[in-house]
Amino acid sequence: MKYYSTNKKAPSVSLREAIIKGLAPDGGLYMPEKIKLLVDDFFENMDKMFLPEIVLTVANAFFGEDVNAESLEKIIYDTLSFKIPTVKVENHIYSLELFHGPTLAFKDVGARFMARLLEYFIHQESDKDINVLVATSGDTGSAVANGFLGVKGVHVYVLYPKGKVSKIQESQFTTLGQNITAMEINGTFDDCQALVKSAFMDQELNEHMQLTSANSINVARFLPQAFYYFLGYARLKKKGLIQLNKQDGKLTSNLVVCVPSGNFGNITAGLISKRMGLPIKRFIAANNANDVFYKYLKTGKYTPKPSKQTLANAMDVGDPSNFARIIDLYEHSHEAIIQDVSGASYTDGQIRETIKDCYQRNGYLLDPHGSCGYRALKEGLKPGETGLFLETAAPAKFKEKMDAIIGEDTDIPERLAKFIQGKKQSIPMEKDFQVFKDFLMKR
Ligand SMILES: *Cc1c(COP(=O)(O)O)cnc(C)c1O
Repeated sequence: MKYYSTNKKAPSVSLREAIIKGLAPDGGLYMPEKIKLLVDDFFENMDKMFLPEIVLTVANAFFGEDVNAESLEKIIYDTLSFKIPTVKVENHIYSLELFHGPTLAFKDVGARFMARLLEYFIHQESDKDINVLVATSGDTGSAVANGFLGVKGVHVYVLYPKGKVSKIQESQFTTLGQNITAMEINGTFDDCQALVKSAFMDQELNEHMQLTSANSINVARFLPQAFYYFLGYARLKKKGLIQLNKQDGKLTSNLVVCVPSGNFGNITAGLISKRMGLPIKRFIAANNANDVFYKYLKTGKYTPKPSKQTLANAMDVGDPSNFARIIDLYEHSHEAIIQDVSGASYTDGQIRETIKDCYQRNGYLLDPHGSCGYRALKEGLKPGETGLFLETAAPAKFKEKMDAIIGEDTDIPERLAKFIQGKKQSIPMEKDFQVFKDFLMKR
């Protein structure tokens, strides 16, 4: 299958090229040329299927033409080697817990899938090693580093701002060793990102080594997020919580899915799952105080702003990249978008209040991102609807903030404790491109 650029000014490319390039040369984001409609029988009987079978059906619709069946199956089984449960929070509201992977955040699935797919393509072409450069303000670095850990033929360089990521986050990408090199940059996140961008544009460096990025715009990280929506639907259907209807020959349901959103990759994958026929009635995009998309839904005008720091920091995005994919998917029709998606935006005060309230009433501990998701359902669900929000990170990742909010000691899961006990290995570096380049030229 070919992938086209949302800017429509660059040629369509193969899956392999879309993954290695990341961003299209015209600055657009790659989109699959076809979104396959799956048959009603699949949606009606999904609750009787095994989860890997469901995921494989979805993965085949995207990648079946480009990856052989046996390898795709292995990639799926490897990627999803942890549980993804739905948990009842209160009547009509369920949490899809996406934080049981190695770094306790939902980005694990996309990162692990991308690493394995890249490995598949490298082996196929017996190319030189590939070097992944990633700048991180915290969460992306850990998901990518752990996703690529031990993958042959790929070396990952994680650039992070010294003293500006939490100790827990830092431990998740500096203690790994093997094919992961952590670089502690004396500067800000923007400086790290600038170093990475300069590296991609430096001809001499690109002749010396093959460079690629693993940020969330990459199709191999973006598309696998569609799996979540199928899994969530299948689980709730099995519990008898979803009512299906046929309207004008199309399956619909009473399921409302709410997605805590920052760069809008996750929810865009959800909108794609709906386009594949998955009967989700509507979506809610839950934002923190960064409300650019929320304002777009209300006014039809998209006005990017500098991001604001909030408690739900993985959603501190003032100009979400995947907005380009959403308007492409709906052919630039604001009217069509608001048929499928509504929005919500919450202050830090509301995030705190919601965590405390939900914990006291339901005994369910939300993290700051999930807090936005839960609250938007609580406020927006109509009678007869079943609500599912995506719980995108484990509360323990934000232990200090959580402890202060609930006045209790948040438990640290064992796999997180292991990172914290590990030995930090990182290379300190000034924010100087020449120094960074010299370092890479010697590798
Ligand atoms: C990245 C992230 C988000 C936002 O996801 P997008 O796909 O960028 O909208 C939400 N919550 C957590 C915990 C994240 O790490």
